[in-house]
Amino acid sequence: MSGFRLGKSLVIAIDGPSGSGKSSVSREVARRFRAAYLDTGAMYRAVTLHCLATGVDLEDRAAVEAAARSLDLFVSTSPDRESVTVDGADVTAAIREPGVSASVSAVATTLGARAELIRRQRALIAGAGHRIVAEGRDITTVVAPDAEVRILLTASEEARLRRRGDQLGGTQSEAQLKRQVTDRDARDSTVVDFRQAADGVVTLDSSDLDFEQTVAAVVRIVRTVAN
Ligand code: C5P
Repeated sequence: MSGFRLGKSLVIAIDGPSGSGKSSVSREVARRFRAAYLDTGAMYRAVTLHCLATGVDLEDRAAVEAAARSLDLFVSTSPDRESVTVDGADVTAAIREPGVSASVSAVATTLGARAELIRRQRALIAGAGHRIVAEGRDITTVVAPDAEVRILLTASEEARLRRRGDQLGGTQSEAQLKRQVTDRDARDSTVVDFRQAADGVVTLDSSDLDFEQTVAAVVRIVRTVAN
């Protein structure tokens, strides 16, 4: 998909709560615009997994920050290759485990660790060439507030719980899902506001849209805003 001048910078920033579908939608939007793709949540998850695996106390802010700073972390920016490694070991699947989802807010609310991950995210965006879709919670507001396109992808709580449940293959009870979606968002939103669109950010509510319709809506917004 083209329509944009080659070489012209196109950073598409997408934020949203958990279960809003932003990862799969962002990945597909990146493919359609032949852009790179950055899943910033994967980076918070990787730091969390590393702390859990090496016995770093998640309540110890200084230790969590130190772990974030020293971590040898690789995140693929290809929309066609999902790959995350820590110290060279493949953690792509392990970072999605419910245990990581349950603990990740402790890293996300450690401001020193956030500062380090934001620095790495900005470097990845700058190094990705001219086009990238970056998604998370604070991309439109903190990581890339100058992005050409900024979107807040929302969905009703009911839709988000259903999507996350499907994603985990129906293995989670309603209470477990609520902990991983609703409670996590409540904790995360103490440090970043991803429930209200900041000035200039376009809100897209996907509650009544399927995957294809949501991708098409994002593509339309990109064409309208970036052209
Ligand atoms: O998007 P995902 O659910 O994988 O994000 C995992 C966690 O990473 C979030 O619950 C949040 O705590 C943190 N996060 C963040 N800022 C971002 C992306 C993710 O704080 N930009």
